[in-house]
Amino acid sequence: MHSVPIASVPVRGSLDDFTVHRIYCIGRNFADHIREMGHAAPASSAPADRAPPVFFMKPADAVVANDTLIPYPRGTHDLHHEVELVVALGTDRDGIVETAEALDLVFGYSVGLDLTRRDLQANAKSKGLPWDVAKGFDRSAPIAPIVPVTLCGHPDGARLSLQVNGNTVQDAPLSDMLYSVPEVLHELSKLYDLRAGDLVFMGTPAGVGPLLPGDRYVAAVDGVAELRGGIA
Ligand code: MN
Repeated sequence: MHSVPIASVPVRGSLDDFTVHRIYCIGRNFADHIREMGHAAPASSAPADRAPPVFFMKPADAVVANDTLIPYPRGTHDLHHEVELVVALGTDRDGIVETAEALDLVFGYSVGLDLTRRDLQANAKSKGLPWDVAKGFDRSAPIAPIVPVTLCGHPDGARLSLQVNGNTVQDAPLSDMLYSVPEVLHELSKLYDLRAGDLVFMGTPAGVGPLLPGDRYVAAVDGVAELRGGIA
């Protein structure tokens, strides 16, 4: 027999780590990022204007701890950063979760990168194929320690930002998200039973771009969490 390490993320103010169950991601949740990827963005975040959410997953053991240098991944020549708010769930719930109760499931928040093999994603998109190899690869989810809601509240209007080598490349308020945290949890719950240990990457604003060997990054949700790391 062999033992498999349990994927986990440190929790600020606690000796107990957050055990990861699943990693869900929403795509196309910021209008400016939809436009930079060459698609038409909705006129507003009103339900009548929005497209249905795009969901995909990463394996739980894709998480990477703060202050880690990540080896440049195989299979790509175009690794991209996507800075994202991360929601960590602390409660199991079968069936559909209404938006009015969705925040009750939230244990805490963090900031992470949805690392993307953009060349493989472009190839998959052009052929109508799944995104798995572009998104769900080893060490594709660096994430800062999780901050419990009891410490940070719900960061509705905070700024989400990423610096690469000291230059700010992504910067947007969380209020720009087309689907809010309660709305994303509601939509996810139409498809999956939500579980304590689930992480939800909430989508990225404009400014995605390459990460190269030697690059160093600092990702932040202001007043909540900060992630440091780099490419080896
Ligand atoms: Mn993303």
